[in-house]
Amino acid sequence: MREKPYLTFSQHLKQRFGGRVHKISIDAGFSCPNRGATRDRPGCLFCDPDGSGAVGIDRGFPVAEQLALGKEVMIRKYKAKHFLAYFQPFSNTFAPPARLRSLYDEALGVEGMVGLAVGTRPDCVPPEVLDLLAEYHRRTYFWLELGLQSSHDQTLDLLRRGHDYACFLDAYAAAKARGLRICVHVILGLPGESRVDMLATADEMARLRVDGIKLHLLHVLRGTPLGEMYQQGGIDILEQQEYVSLVADVLERLPAQTLIHRLTGDGPRDTLLAPLWSLNKWEVLNAIEEELHRRGTRQGSRFAAD
Ligand code: SF4
Repeated sequence: MREKPYLTFSQHLKQRFGGRVHKISIDAGFSCPNRGATRDRPGCLFCDPDGSGAVGIDRGFPVAEQLALGKEVMIRKYKAKHFLAYFQPFSNTFAPPARLRSLYDEALGVEGMVGLAVGTRPDCVPPEVLDLLAEYHRRTYFWLELGLQSSHDQTLDLLRRGHDYACFLDAYAAAKARGLRICVHVILGLPGESRVDMLATADEMARLRVDGIKLHLLHVLRGTPLGEMYQQGGIDILEQQEYVSLVADVLERLPAQTLIHRLTGDGPRDTLLAPLWSLNKWEVLNAIEEELHRRGTRQGSRFAAD
């Protein structure tokens, strides 16, 4: 088998834990500052009413039960032994520290959990929360996943993110000062962004030497403000080859040590309006690998260290 031209998170987990580690997504019932306490505000333009990345989660069950159900499937399918509890949809630090501690501990108490990943927004990690996360970083294998999406304030405004790039930089610096491992989420294909803009965000991630990155393709979902814009013909959608070539450009710019957590997302089949080619995830991943082989480059090939 050919060596992957980028450093995958799954490879890293395998080396660290001596076997494959399966990430299990859970919905612990959080909301997000942008959606309001009861999730009744529209939030970001692209926000799935059920929370971004909520595909396949047994919401409504307690955290430990969701993990037990997820484990059962993984054990049946892959004979899995090691798991990472992933607090995924909405902002999983949007609660008082005592509540967070109780939910994170519940997850870690499930047999086979080797660590935690917590997804949130840069404006949702006050010092007391970061101190708590740092405690988990010392206790277990821990990732903070920060949604940035773009380093351009104009885009963040358009998306109604409710935070700017300076807010991300502050949160990032405060989390790094506590030694946390950080994975940043970036979306390619956002409305109004050119290739140059997207690569400028990648250059910023390279400059910060982020520990990990998740690249998402913009998914346009029915029932979102972005979906309405799309149906009125108001936004351009990336073609598969454009996306593949962009991802290859981004990978070349990142340091070779940045762990690649994801290179494309799983859109919900029943509400995905565009791009439908993204449903064929393996074809996209293979095409990215092929593109780098064709170029004779790999992750880090164009990383310019200061
Ligand atoms: S930060 Fe996430 S959950 Fe909150 S509104 Fe934006 S996409 Fe939705």
